Amino acid sequence: MNAPKRDEKLMEKVVALAKRRGFVFPGSEIYGGLANTYEYGPAGVELKRNIENEWWRVFVERRSDVVGLDSSIILHPKVWEASGHVQGLVDAMVECRKCHTRTRADHLIEDYMEKKGRKVSVEGQSNEELDRIIADEKIPCPSCGKFDWTPVRKFNLLFETHIGIVPEAQSKVYLRGETAQGIFIAFKNIIDSTRVRLPFGVGQLGKSFRNEITKGNFIFRTLEFEQAELEYFFDPEATEWEGLFEEWKKTLWDFVTVNLGVRPERLRWRPHGDEERSFYSKRTEDLEYDFPFGFKELWGLAYRTDYDLSQHAKFSGADLSYTDPATGRKFTPHVIEPAVGVNRLMAMVMLDAYAEEGDRVILKLPPHLAPYRAAIFPLLANKPALVASAREIYDDLRARFPVAWDDRGNIGKRYYAQDEIGTPYCITVDFDTLGDGDDPALKGTVTVRDRDTGEQERVAISALAAWLSARLHG
Ligand code: ATP
Repeated sequence: MNAPKRDEKLMEKVVALAKRRGFVFPGSEIYGGLANTYEYGPAGVELKRNIENEWWRVFVERRSDVVGLDSSIILHPKVWEASGHVQGLVDAMVECRKCHTRTRADHLIEDYMEKKGRKVSVEGQSNEELDRIIADEKIPCPSCGKFDWTPVRKFNLLFETHIGIVPEAQSKVYLRGETAQGIFIAFKNIIDSTRVRLPFGVGQLGKSFRNEITKGNFIFRTLEFEQAELEYFFDPEATEWEGLFEEWKKTLWDFVTVNLGVRPERLRWRPHGDEERSFYSKRTEDLEYDFPFGFKELWGLAYRTDYDLSQHAKFSGADLSYTDPATGRKFTPHVIEPAVGVNRLMAMVMLDAYAEEGDRVILKLPPHLAPYRAAIFPLLANKPALVASAREIYDDLRARFPVAWDDRGNIGKRYYAQDEIGTPYCITVDFDTLGDGDDPALKGTVTVRDRDTGEQERVAISALAAWLSARLHG
């Protein structure tokens, strides 16, 4: 059986909806925009925060073996030398001599091959090898169609800035390129200040910055992004890493399919080959989602051995070992790292939830991720008694759930707008609510309409909060 055909305009439609309904705006728009930067609007900030909170709850709060951390964005410059990012966080780029389009060489090759029906990964290949593949395949420029590339060159992705107000006394620093290094450099303070025992994890959520050359795939890849990373430290003599790796695979898969409600058939694991994998990693697998521009990395899972702690011990001179309290054995723990970008998760969630039914557009978000759990309307905005009753319900529910108020236009238009925002329930106060309708038994009840089925039921105002609670998990 063939998979259902994807809507070729899906990306365009989601980007337009994101702007129209206040999820994501292009960055600095009134100044003509700033490429690959975005602003998260009133609905978007709620959705993004709900995903972050879900991550924090599942990966940190609800686990007895994980603690949290919030380290600095500006770290000592030696951190990035020790981690290998100064030498390593580089992209191999080519520029078209005809139209001056700059693009990542690996993307150019992989996208070209994918269009020809061949899935390849060239991560980790040298400049010369990339040059050779581009020449052998005669890969044309995706913008102008010509074949006239500069040789592949490497660019460092770390954002540089300077500390110090006097130019002569300034020192160069970097904005962090990943949150993970903050965890490694805090390792000693964490074991000294808490009762953690191996195996244990440290989770961190925060901004990372990369001077990326992007292809403008919306918020999939941006210059600054919210990263959610976890380092799970363990004793390789006491814990078998293969089993642990499989457990983490299951945890990530469950999070995406259950907590974020994404269709499993659009997900797959892709193990890194020997060439692509970092030299210190024993195994790396990417959880990939089938984005409109192909299966792409959503979440990286890597067994990084003791590389990071050993490097920081070497560069800083600090003792980053762990002493087994039972045996007194001293060693450097190994680590498994799941690393994801929250913005990328959000792009996936929106793409996956987008649905069209007739002329309606519905964002079928899981209710606990929706920016608003419910919207409250007075049937008519010019009838003070309806407005007052609806306002009372709104104020009451607002103390317990994020809810929206809407009294513009007619009910149909309000449903249309809330469907696009993904609000699971719309609550309407009408004349029956006030006891002024045809059926006196409906006094004190409201109409609640379900986003996905369009079905409506009457619910007593006094039971509304409990009714909603029962339907909104998490
Ligand atoms: P990619 O190959 O997509 O550039 P990567 O292998 O460089 O990703 P990692 O360094 O492993 O990514 O980062 C871990 C995760 O952080 C990625 O899986 C992705 O979800 C997220 N991420 C990385 N770079 C960006 C970015 N520029 N914008 C948004 N999210 C990002």
